[in-house]
Amino acid sequence: MDHYCVFGNPVHHSKSPVIHAMFAQQTGQNIDYHTRLAPLDGFVEAVRTFIAEGGQGANVTVPFKLEAFALAHQLSERASMAGAVNTLHFVDGKIIADNTDGVGLVRDITCNAATPIRDKRVLLLGAGGAARGALLPLLQELPAVLTIANRTLSKAQELQKLAQTFTSCEVDAVTWQQLEEESTQSFDVIINATSASLQSEVPPIPAHVFGPESLAYDMMYGDTVTSFNQYAQQCGAKTRDGLGMLIEQAAEAFFIWRGVRPNTAEVLAHFQKKGSA
Ligand code: NDP
Repeated sequence: MDHYCVFGNPVHHSKSPVIHAMFAQQTGQNIDYHTRLAPLDGFVEAVRTFIAEGGQGANVTVPFKLEAFALAHQLSERASMAGAVNTLHFVDGKIIADNTDGVGLVRDITCNAATPIRDKRVLLLGAGGAARGALLPLLQELPAVLTIANRTLSKAQELQKLAQTFTSCEVDAVTWQQLEEESTQSFDVIINATSASLQSEVPPIPAHVFGPESLAYDMMYGDTVTSFNQYAQQCGAKTRDGLGMLIEQAAEAFFIWRGVRPNTAEVLAHFQKKGSA
């Protein structure tokens, strides 16, 4: 049996062990996947211990994604771009690192929600770690426009600059106020990558960014509709939360480790049913 885990602090609430157990069962892979609480000042040692015990790979969650980035011997392009790592693969004494969050988001939007990004107007709210991780996979879909809006303009501008290093797509950086005053057209896809929903807050964005056919996507998920998605629904948009992103990022990690793609629809249906029970 091969061993995998997710490092975090806290980590007991993680759905990843159940997700990976379902993937393993579906695909006939003989693996064990568990949570590992790493001390806040002991992430690197925890990884080394796991490798010494024979661990084959790991996911990394809050607050260790930057430390995982620094620890890697080899980074994928999307991890380099994200500046953070959520997936480690231990191969021949090397730590190979990736970031599967952004591709998980894009797959959930384009495949599971059947919403194309190509040639569409996309609004990305927030400019923290999750927004940065989403940048490359979003731009690879070739949107017509990507507007990054954030409370702190300089952080949105940093992401804009980063995006412009590898794309010719139009990428804008704005504040909430500029969005209110200067943007008159609605967006096809509006992604909330701020952490405002954690405090049941909604970024102060104008209702006109949502059209009747828009998809509003909150990266956060929970047992109830997030505050952002409640607002988007009031504005007439379709909504989706980040549960599918979580499952899709896990599927990509599973693929990196095992070379097999699991059936994410079955796992998503399981968690959606559980959430509504
Ligand atoms: P960061 O702390 O790195 O960034 C937070 C961002 O939110 C910043 O842009 C910050 O703006 C903005 N922000 C914070 N509070 C408010 C507020 N009250 N109003 C408006 N903007 C606010 O967090 P992450 O990027 O790591 O995470 C963001 C969200 O994404 C979280 O809800 C997290 O749970 C979710 N997530 C979901 C994943 C999934 O698999 N579904 C995976 C990863 C993240 P400023 O720059 O001005 O401070």
